[in-house]
Amino acid sequence: MLFKTIARKMLELKDHKIDKVEETKNGMSLIYISAKKQKKLKSSCCKKRCRVVDLLSQRRWSHLSLWGRKVEIIYSPSRVECCGKLVVEDIPWSMGKWRLTVPLSIFNKLRQDEGSRHAK
Ligand SMILES: [Zn+2]
Repeated sequence: MLFKTIARKMLELKDHKIDKVEETKNGMSLIYISAKKQKKLKSSCCKKRCRVVDLLSQRRWSHLSLWGRKVEIIYSPSRVECCGKLVVEDIPWSMGKWRLTVPLSIFNKLRQDEGSRHAK
């Protein structure tokens, strides 16, 4: 329960929910996410709420480890109709084709900065 709450806050889920968290034998936690039941989601092009047309295939994102466990997110993004074309929805924890979540990317960046400061 706590795990889900932390994950939901870190990922800034509003239009999405965590369906289940699966613990794998090799020590990973898989977070399965889906869009809440609604016909409109934000588009990636102008962040307007647009009609959902279809679902893309499942994608995975690496997320920050929690309690020493690797965490991956599994989600099938929706495509919406916006500006007269089909575009992928605006995924709150992802940017473009990133395979890492936004919090993990920030963490990696900070660690790099920290590393280069020590190297000087
Ligand atoms: Zn648009």
